[in-house]
Amino acid sequence: MSVAAAEELTEFRIQVRSFLADNAVAGADMAASKNFHIKRSEAGLAGIRYATEYGGAGLSAAHDRAYQEEAAAFPPMGFSFVISHGMCLPMLNDFGTEDQKLRYMPDCIAGRTLWCQMFSEPGAGSDVASLQTRAERDGDEWIINGQKVWTTRAHQSDYGILIARTDPAAVKHAGISMFIVPMDHPGVEIRPIHQIDGRREFNEVFFTDVNIPVDNLLGELNNGWNQATAMLMYERVAIGGLGSGSIQQPNFDLLKGVAEQADRLGDPVVRQDLTRIYAMETTKALLSMRTKAEMKAGKAPGPGGSLGKLFGSVIQWRMREILMNLAGPGSQAWPGGGYESSEPASWQAKQTIGSFSASIAGGTDEIQRNIIGDRVLGLPRDISVDRGVPFNELKVGTQRDNDREV
Ligand SMILES: Cc1cc2nc3c(=O)[nH]c(=O)nc-3n(C[C@H](O)[C@H](O)[C@H](O)COP(=O)(O)OP(=O)(O)OC[C@H]3O[C@@H](n4cnc5c(N)ncnc54)[C@H](O)[C@@H]3O)c2cc1C
Repeated sequence: MSVAAAEELTEFRIQVRSFLADNAVAGADMAASKNFHIKRSEAGLAGIRYATEYGGAGLSAAHDRAYQEEAAAFPPMGFSFVISHGMCLPMLNDFGTEDQKLRYMPDCIAGRTLWCQMFSEPGAGSDVASLQTRAERDGDEWIINGQKVWTTRAHQSDYGILIARTDPAAVKHAGISMFIVPMDHPGVEIRPIHQIDGRREFNEVFFTDVNIPVDNLLGELNNGWNQATAMLMYERVAIGGLGSGSIQQPNFDLLKGVAEQADRLGDPVVRQDLTRIYAMETTKALLSMRTKAEMKAGKAPGPGGSLGKLFGSVIQWRMREILMNLAGPGSQAWPGGGYESSEPASWQAKQTIGSFSASIAGGTDEIQRNIIGDRVLGLPRDISVDRGVPFNELKVGTQRDNDREV
């Protein structure tokens, strides 16, 4: 790096630090988080690597990394936007037409709009290619019918990226396409799913004769599976955490605080548990840095992203055990209890109960292990009974009858 470039980067870091000192606040809710992203965009610090004509800052990977490193010292502000920014935005950038990029990316980057991901269905989760939501072409429109489930933040989102079956006569993975759907469109019905800890983050989404313009096709017709795979790779990286770009141990810090409170820091078993978490988090940070370096070198996130995602989940399992040991029943129960209680769950309970989702969201641990086996280690793949069979001849998901139309 030239001296001028290094100086410019130092100036950039100072600008970022000052912006974050003024705007990053602990415990930000959705409204505060949105407000933060709008201000970040106004300061020219949003969408750092995206082109300026699409609302980005048009800066380099080094700037992006510098931002992440500086942000690590401040309260995290991006959590509500993990799907919008970490998964939907790169899809718009990679697969959108020029018109779509100009129309949707600036608001998405600035946080003026929120996006969700509509992949999973009651009969299609791990095997998402079994999806039965269908989109049929009718003149200048696509007509969508079907159901999605577990759609995170659908109720708060302005748009969703949907995958639907566009050619039921093609083999399972071939007849799928991707669409941009406005969440307030007539025929889209969003029903909340209440979580045990009182939160309401995901939903069922029903589509009844939802007519969207043909222009809302994202990417090529019937290329939805390849695009979905690309989005899942972005998802694993986003969830597995590219992290701050520095080596940190947030769960260790948290558990150490709990151990201190419980006066158990001198207990050799507790110390051993804490040290193990420390080592695991350090390894995960190093893994994230490797993925980042690969992306910086121009590689799209590959199946190696599954390693970070899986490791993050293993850390959550371990952390749950330690927390239960330290906090006792308080790690699972709270006064009043249940989602109808006005009493919010303690953070220990939220952490313990919420830790299970890490093994499911974005693809289960078993699926990550399959991906690592097949595509990282090159082990033989599972036998697949549906290879070469048209989708409408398969017994999949809720499609039980061979003759049933989809
Ligand atoms: C917090 C959270 C947020 C989510 N947000 C979204 C979202 O925004 N959008 C969205 O589309 N979806 C979302 N999901 C859904 C998520 O992607 C699915 O739950 C996940 O892919 C698993 O699918 P499933 O629940 O249908 O389980 P299933 O696929 O039915 O799996 C059940 C069990 O069988 C195992 N299994 C299945 N197939 C195999 C196999 N081939 N080999 C070995 N074991 C296997 C699984 O590992 C699991 O243990 C979210 C889920 C969670 C928990």
